[in-house]
Amino acid sequence: MPARRKTSATRARSRSGARKKWVYLFSSGKAEGNAGMRALLGGKGAGLAEMTNAGLPVPPGFTITTEACNAYFAANKKLPPGLWEQVEKALATVEKSTGKKLGDPKNPLLVSVRSGAAMSMPGMMDTVLNLGLNDETRAGLEKLAKDPRFAWDAYRRFISMFGRIVLGIAGEKFEHALEAKKKTTGAKTDADLRPEALRQLVDEYKAIVQRETKKAFPTEPNAQLRLAIEAVFQSWFGRRAVDYRNQFKIRHDLGTAVSVVTMVFGNMGNDSGTGVAFTRDPNTGAKELYGEYLINAQGEDVVAGIRTPAKISQLKGEMPKVYEQFEKIAKRLEKHYRDAQDLEFTIERGKLYMLQTRSAKRTARAAVKIATDMVREAVITKDEAIGRVDPMQVEQLLLPRFDEKQVEKARTEGRYLAKGLNASPGAATGRAVFDADRAVELKGAKQLVVLVRPETSPDDFHGMIAATGILTARGGSTSHAADIDLGKREMRVGGKVIKEGEPISIDGTTGEVFAGELPTIQPNFREEKELIELLSWADKRRRLGVWVNADTPEECRLAREFGAEGVGLARTEHMFRQADRLPIVQDMIMADDTAGRKKALAKLLPFQQGDFREMYTAMDGLSVVIRLIDPPLHEFLREYHDLNVEIAVDRATGKDPAEIARKEKIWKRLEQITEDNPMLGLRGCRLLLVFPEILEMQIRAILGAAIDVSERGVKAKPEIMMPLVGTMGELDSLYEQTTAVAEAVFKERGKKVPYKFGTMIEIPRACLISDEIAIKAEFFSFGTNDLTQTILGISRDDAQKSFLTQYVEKKIIPSDPFQVLDRDGVGAMMRISIEKGRKTRKDLKIGICGEHGGDPSSIALCHELGLTYVSPSTYRVPVARLAAAQAALATTERDR
Ligand code: PEP
Ligand code: MG
Repeated sequence: MPARRKTSATRARSRSGARKKWVYLFSSGKAEGNAGMRALLGGKGAGLAEMTNAGLPVPPGFTITTEACNAYFAANKKLPPGLWEQVEKALATVEKSTGKKLGDPKNPLLVSVRSGAAMSMPGMMDTVLNLGLNDETRAGLEKLAKDPRFAWDAYRRFISMFGRIVLGIAGEKFEHALEAKKKTTGAKTDADLRPEALRQLVDEYKAIVQRETKKAFPTEPNAQLRLAIEAVFQSWFGRRAVDYRNQFKIRHDLGTAVSVVTMVFGNMGNDSGTGVAFTRDPNTGAKELYGEYLINAQGEDVVAGIRTPAKISQLKGEMPKVYEQFEKIAKRLEKHYRDAQDLEFTIERGKLYMLQTRSAKRTARAAVKIATDMVREAVITKDEAIGRVDPMQVEQLLLPRFDEKQVEKARTEGRYLAKGLNASPGAATGRAVFDADRAVELKGAKQLVVLVRPETSPDDFHGMIAATGILTARGGSTSHAADIDLGKREMRVGGKVIKEGEPISIDGTTGEVFAGELPTIQPNFREEKELIELLSWADKRRRLGVWVNADTPEECRLAREFGAEGVGLARTEHMFRQADRLPIVQDMIMADDTAGRKKALAKLLPFQQGDFREMYTAMDGLSVVIRLIDPPLHEFLREYHDLNVEIAVDRATGKDPAEIARKEKIWKRLEQITEDNPMLGLRGCRLLLVFPEILEMQIRAILGAAIDVSERGVKAKPEIMMPLVGTMGELDSLYEQTTAVAEAVFKERGKKVPYKFGTMIEIPRACLISDEIAIKAEFFSFGTNDLTQTILGISRDDAQKSFLTQYVEKKIIPSDPFQVLDRDGVGAMMRISIEKGRKTRKDLKIGICGEHGGDPSSIALCHELGLTYVSPSTYRVPVARLAAAQAALATTERDR
């Protein structure tokens, strides 16, 4: 067969590929990259380059770009042309600067091969340490280090890590061999294993590799390096990395960079060590070094949480000089990056090396404190501080926590189980489950779960996101203490046994664990002084108003405390559902004629009027947009869902015929009003037009209440909103009726109050005729729940459980359009509506009251479209204030 000829096009492509710069060096105090090159070099690569240029002690190395990773996948998992040559060249430079050589038995260079994406994804991708070891270089290392134990230990670690990550062998295989060796030699910890035992382990590990891969362990260092680089590329699409990106909405096409760094050893004896530290406490935001380290250990030991590390402050006593140097570097890096940093370091025989610096992940509380503190310290501006806090995090600060009294009660009842390390604030109660898959399963069945594991592993990530809380038996500051039997699916802790499915409660702030459910209490917003300050800065920057969707006076009061500037949607039907009103509403539905309906409505009127009085009072001086009844009527008869079965049973058991006749009447009515497509049926303004007496009652209640409170000096600002309008015929008729009732009420009461008349925009046709609608409507409010449903033709009630979740998972659509506004469809329709509406009425007030009003990325779109305000649910009000400011400043610095 003739050899395949290269066409000139492929030649040209490979030539340009070969010329492309895939590799960036950092060596001998100089780096080709810098902090601004995160997208290309990943956070780690950019940080290493920046630290090198800043003259900090960084072991020499080089970074392979994220572009190389993408090119690797684009070429069907082949290294792009030119890459390997550039790696060899960079390696030669590193060898020169270290005076060591990869594979040289006399003076071997060992490297780590580390992943690092532009967005930090802690622990989600793979790293291989000690690369370059084989029988010969191990012997060389032993001679150089004058430490056979260290050399054997490094070798066995390398084989297992390489075996697991590069060769895909299950980690347990190596762990079992290690555990067995500890047992037979009587070693309590890994550190107790003697050189001879480690040597035997190396042989056993090699045998595992041979057995599992049917090949000998690759001993040629260059081949090891090439395989490891490819494995790190591949970890970009590993399950946990993909899950993580889905969870945090990180794009999948960014790729990971690979940093190849000269190994420094934290396990060369008691003058060596390794650790991680934050420049400020990532839980509270307090300005102090926070972190942990292990003496005589490698980085993986800290992360894996197998040994319990010491607090960083202890290093001060143990190695004062190193601590002092580290503290200085930490301060310098924080100042340089103008943000709290997350640092990784290793001490090799008393010498400190910096391995990573990145913007620190932090809790909501810490984010707010660090941002406001840094403004006070004149490190950042107020505008920057606004950009430093993820709006969605703000909601966490308003999250419930356990009621102290209930905690005490649980204690006296003997339900206290243990105290672990406090990992993240908040309180979680749920059923204990012992594996990640089961957590996902129960979450799917709408249960709250607490995932209980021996230790945290990134492979459990899907379960960790499904769980409301996580409890681990071992580990660093992410763990609690318990004895877990995965086989029996139970946990023994504090002398008690918790079986799978039993409820437990964990307090993330104190680290305490209790059996059973603990009731929670709401935090007090007024005490969140720093958040309040940050939001006050945000308010000065945002252009969007922030209103609230609230149906009760309590919600109104809370929302005002959170900073709501009006009620953007009061769903009146929610008031109909309360226990003392529902029977009256049902009577209305059951009525045979208008007179019967009017009778029931007359009974409802005082309830509605009373509710509105309270809401106006709570919102005194602010607008309250009240929407008239919206849902299809059968929704008020839900409790009669199984009535036909009941009737059959009643008949069979000879129940009272009058009761049976009553139920039959309800059943007949239900049959009459039940529709196949109720969301597209008799609901919204259609109901009001078919049953004008409902409209009359509601307008009377709205305006009557406004007059009532105005007599008490309260400034009511009612805005009457019509749902589901799609034609001018509807709107004209609603307008006329509303005006007629208003005039009647004003005449009867001998008093007028101002009110506005407006409409929801939630039908595509309404968008297209918005210029006409705006003639009558004084305001619009986008009902983007229905608008999404009607534009995409996707049922908001059914789609999630049937296909939408899968659509998102399979990336058929980028996100759930009921959570994040569909910019191209719904957003485009909104744009048309806004343009048309404002053509007619220049100052038309336009809001959004669908769920999207509380979603930061949708809020950004609303800002862009020029809406007047967003109206989210109560707890999202502070979220929206911050998100609206970020939209105005166009600075979301979520991952810097
Ligand atoms: C909407 O459709 O977006 C809306 C706010 O109305 P509801 O959710 O009550 O239908
Ligand atoms: Mg709606």
